[in-house]
Amino acid sequence: MSIFEETEEQRIFRQEFRKFCAREITPNVELWERQRAVPRELWRKMGEQGYLCAWLPETFGGLGLDFHFSVIIGEELIRADGFGVGAPLHSDVAVPYIFSYGSEAVKERILPKCVTGEVITCIGLTEPNAGSDLAAIRTRAVRDGDHYVIDGQKTFITNGIFADAVVLAVKMAEPGESKGISLILVEAGTPGFSRGRKLEKLGYHMQDTAELFFEDCRVPVENLLGEEGRGFKYMMEKLARERLEVCVKCQAMAEECLKEALSYSKMRHAFNRPIATFQHNAFKLAEMATEVDIGRTYLNTLVAEFVKGDAITLKVSMAKAWLGEMVNRVAYNALQLHGGYGYMEEYRISRLFRDARSLSIFAGTTEIMKLIIARRLGLNPV
Ligand SMILES: Cc1cc2nc3c(=O)[nH]c(=O)nc-3n(C[C@H](O)[C@H](O)[C@H](O)COP(=O)(O)OP(=O)(O)OC[C@H]3O[C@@H](n4cnc5c(N)ncnc54)[C@H](O)[C@@H]3O)c2cc1C
Repeated sequence: MSIFEETEEQRIFRQEFRKFCAREITPNVELWERQRAVPRELWRKMGEQGYLCAWLPETFGGLGLDFHFSVIIGEELIRADGFGVGAPLHSDVAVPYIFSYGSEAVKERILPKCVTGEVITCIGLTEPNAGSDLAAIRTRAVRDGDHYVIDGQKTFITNGIFADAVVLAVKMAEPGESKGISLILVEAGTPGFSRGRKLEKLGYHMQDTAELFFEDCRVPVENLLGEEGRGFKYMMEKLARERLEVCVKCQAMAEECLKEALSYSKMRHAFNRPIATFQHNAFKLAEMATEVDIGRTYLNTLVAEFVKGDAITLKVSMAKAWLGEMVNRVAYNALQLHGGYGYMEEYRISRLFRDARSLSIFAGTTEIMKLIIARRLGLNPV
C-alpha cells in the first residue's frame, strides 16, 4: 500500500523502480551487509535510470518531479531491504542545500553529477561533543583571502566514506552562538580533508557511516552555501524535509515488520494451532495494524501539505517523534512473535528490528522532537 493515492505516472514510476530494486538491490543485500558497504556502481545505475535527485530541474539533469516520487523511492528501498542504500540522504537531504544555497558555479559543477551518481553527497552536522545541541559544534572556519580554512571533526556521517562532497556545518563566530553557524561544501580531494573509521554499528550495516576530519582544510569561498552565519536558519528550513523522509522510512519499515509478523504467526504452530489464533497474539497484531494504519493516515496528510508548500515543522516533529517510536514498538512485537527464530540472522525480522532502532535517533531524536513540540505549545522545558 502507498502512503498516498497515486497518479498513473507515479504508479508506473513505482513499478519500474520496484523492478530495479528486485534486480539490482535485493539479491545483493546479504553481501553488502557483510561488506558494510553498497558499491558505487549501484549509484551509477540509479543515476542512469533517473532515480537520484529526480526532483531537480531538468537544467541540472533532473526530472523535475515532486516529493511524491521521493516517497516512492524511500518506500520501495525499504521493501526491497535496501534501507542502507544512502540515496535518499543524498537526494533529499544533502543535495537540497546545494540547490537552494549554492553559488551558480558550484551548482553547475556539482548538481548534474549528483543526478548521474558520479558525485555522492553527505551532510556533516554531528560532532563527537555536539549532536542534539548543534549550536555547540566546534568545527571552525576562518576566512583567509579567497578561501576558508577549516579545522574540526564530524562523526556518524551517513555516506561518509564514499562521499565526494560534504555539506559541512562550521562555526565562524564565538562558540555557543548558533547564529555563527555557516554551511560550506567541502569536496573530496581538498587538502586537509580526510576520513576516519568506517563505524561499526548495531544495524544499518550496508550503510557506510564515518568520521570526517578537517585540518587546515582550504576551501574556496565560492563553496560557501548561502551567507555566512545563516546556516542555522538554513538547517531549520531543510530539516523538515529530512525528517519527513525519515518518517517515510519509519512507516515503510513498520509495514514490513507487520507483514512479516502476520505471515509468520499464521504459519507457525504451537499447542496444535497457529500462534496467531491465541487471543493475546491476535490482539497484539490488531494493535500493530492499527498503529501502522494511523501512521499512514497522518503521513498522507503531511506529505500532501509538504508538496503544497505548507510549513510542516510542528507536524513533522510530531510525526518523527511518534513514528520513530511506533516502528520500534512494531518491530519489537514482530520479533517477539517469531520466538527464537526472530533472533536468527536468516529471518528478515532480525535485520528489520535492529535497523529500526536508528530511526528514533538520527535526524533529531524523539526527545528533541518533543522539545520542538513543547516549545510550540508555549512551554519552555529544560
Ligand atoms: C545511523 C546514524 C546515522 C547518522 N547520520 C548522520 C549524518 O549523516 N549526519 C550527521 O550530521 N549526523 C548523523 N547522525 C547523528 C545523529 O543525528 C545524532 O546521533 C543525533 O542527533 C543525536 O545526537 P548525539 O548522538 O550526540 O546524542 P546526544 O545529543 O548526546 O543525546 C543523548 C541523549 O540525550 C537526549 N537529549 C539531548 N538533549 C536533550 C534535551 N534537551 N532534552 C531531553 N533529552 C535530550 C537525546 O535525545 C539522547 O537520548 C547519525 C546517527 C546515526 C545513529
